[in-house]
Amino acid sequence: MKLLEGKTALVTGASRGIGRGMALKLARHGANVAFTYLSSPDKALSLENELTSAGIKAKGYKSDAADFKQAEQLINDILAEFGSLDIVVNNAGITRDGLLMRMSEEQFDEVIRTNLKSVFNITKACIKPMLKQKQGSIINISSVVGVKGNAGQANYAASKAGIIGFTKSVALELGSRNIRCNAIAPGFIETEMTGALDEKTVQGWRDAIPLKRGGTPDDVADAVLFLASSMSSYITGQVLNVDGGMLT
Ligand code: NAP
Repeated sequence: MKLLEGKTALVTGASRGIGRGMALKLARHGANVAFTYLSSPDKALSLENELTSAGIKAKGYKSDAADFKQAEQLINDILAEFGSLDIVVNNAGITRDGLLMRMSEEQFDEVIRTNLKSVFNITKACIKPMLKQKQGSIINISSVVGVKGNAGQANYAASKAGIIGFTKSVALELGSRNIRCNAIAPGFIETEMTGALDEKTVQGWRDAIPLKRGGTPDDVADAVLFLASSMSSYITGQVLNVDGGMLT
């Protein structure tokens, strides 16, 4: 029997990058997978086909994680289609970088809404079915930048640090109901998000990592699999750094 057989997982923002890697990993280990996207319908359809061909039930939903009402509707739609929801990975995220001197109010608000308020929206909607089921695992994707800060990313760092406080609070509130809530703080993971950086900056990041390479979506997906499964059944309220030793 596969590790996640009979479980239903939701991954937000899975049309590309790390989310895509997580959706494929959870499916490979037997979970049925619902996932969201916002602006990449073709990539979402191709992921849905790839997931379904792994022999599990899968469906992509166009849903803006930053929108409270859409998040509620999403969870209702998933429950109607899949019948349960056991694992939620809050992954959708964006960057709008700039030094604070030049950062606009819109840049700040957009990042907080998409990266942090989205985690509130989806988590609030998903705990209702999890309470009924008397179990669940929520995994929030933070960042090393949320732990140590980064020049030019005050908005992003605030959103990712906020996720850590939110995660620990939810773990304390829902531990007695057998709902676990953990965060992952990825380091420098090579995706379209980091593809916007110039080669010199990318090489600088790689050189600063003890394992001397950028991470892959699969590196983060392995940590998600661990926190989603019963292998981590006595772990809640934690932040797991997946960063090649960057924060050491
Ligand atoms: P990415 O390649 O830019 O992909 C972002 C994904 O989020 C896309 O699937 C996008 O969907 C989706 N998305 C964006 N806004 C959304 C919204 N409002 N509602 C629903 N979906 C939305 O990013 P990534 O590198 O894979 O990063 C994934 C997560 O890991 C983010 O939370 C990021 O902050 C975090 N992280 C990344 C790194 C890194 O080095 N890459 C490091 C630490 C943490 P569409 O394409 O359909 O719009």
